[in-house]
Amino acid sequence: MRVAIIGAGPAGMFAGAGLARRGHEVTAVERDPGPAADGTWPRRGVMQFHHAHAFRHQVVQALERELPEGLDQWITAGAEPVAMRLPTGKEVPMGVRSRRETFERVLRAAAGRVPGLSIRRGHVEEVTRRRGRADGIRVDGSQLPAHLVIDASGRAGRVTRSLRPRLCPGCGKRPPSRPPAWPFPACPTGSTRTVPGRSRRSCLAARSTTDIAVRWAATGGSRCPG
Ligand SMILES: Cc1cc2nc3c(=O)[nH]c(=O)nc-3n(C[C@H](O)[C@H](O)[C@H](O)COP(=O)(O)OP(=O)(O)OC[C@H]3O[C@@H](n4cnc5c(N)ncnc54)[C@H](O)[C@@H]3O)c2cc1C
Repeated sequence: MRVAIIGAGPAGMFAGAGLARRGHEVTAVERDPGPAADGTWPRRGVMQFHHAHAFRHQVVQALERELPEGLDQWITAGAEPVAMRLPTGKEVPMGVRSRRETFERVLRAAAGRVPGLSIRRGHVEEVTRRRGRADGIRVDGSQLPAHLVIDASGRAGRVTRSLRPRLCPGCGKRPPSRPPAWPFPACPTGSTRTVPGRSRRSCLAARSTTDIAVRWAATGGSRCPG
């Protein structure tokens, strides 16, 4: 099957590598030019790109399954696994600390080596349709035919916005136009803490919400919270 993916961020690279490894012909189209020849990667539009991130253990498990060499390279590049000791003395993995830049560099490089996956630079303008079904995407004016189109353009992606439901099928309310970046768990008090770093400050925030749109987005739009 020919697959077109909009975006080569984490979701696009995982989906693309997984499908290509299973024999599909995948093209991921990304507007960001990727790392420059001198090794720098400004990654415009991703303001947190150079900041420290916390990655849940599921990211490790996904890498182990789909791109095991990417996991080794991530650790070699400086990612720090975090474990927690239970009262029983047993250690359980909690996740990984790493800059997003470090993660994306190894993920993109590892995914780019999977035969059948190509990463193409370009701006996806729209999903093209034939007889009511997606049949590809338009990239900088030219059509890229595909049997399957995957939107991995992130929360800020606009290209498939017109295809989303206008109202929540359950409650009839409008879904958020831009889902939250990081769905915070409900916190009874709501608090914000700044954590001093060596030269900069990171911010850890927890807040409660009664905002129905945020709660709807946290369910992935699948359940009506009302
Ligand atoms: C401030 C902040 C802090 C965060 N901290 C964490 C954290 O600590 N840990 C964590 O796990 N997550 C964190 N996140 C969330 C994390 O960044 C997202 O979950 C993750 O980036 C989602 O990946 P994605 O591939 O779905 O989308 P994105 O990373 O947004 O990637 C989408 C890609 O699609 C491309 N694209 C979009 N539209 C087009 C188009 N029309 N044509 C071509 N290309 C297009 C974009 O250039 C981009 O590369 C944070 C987010 C924010 C905003």
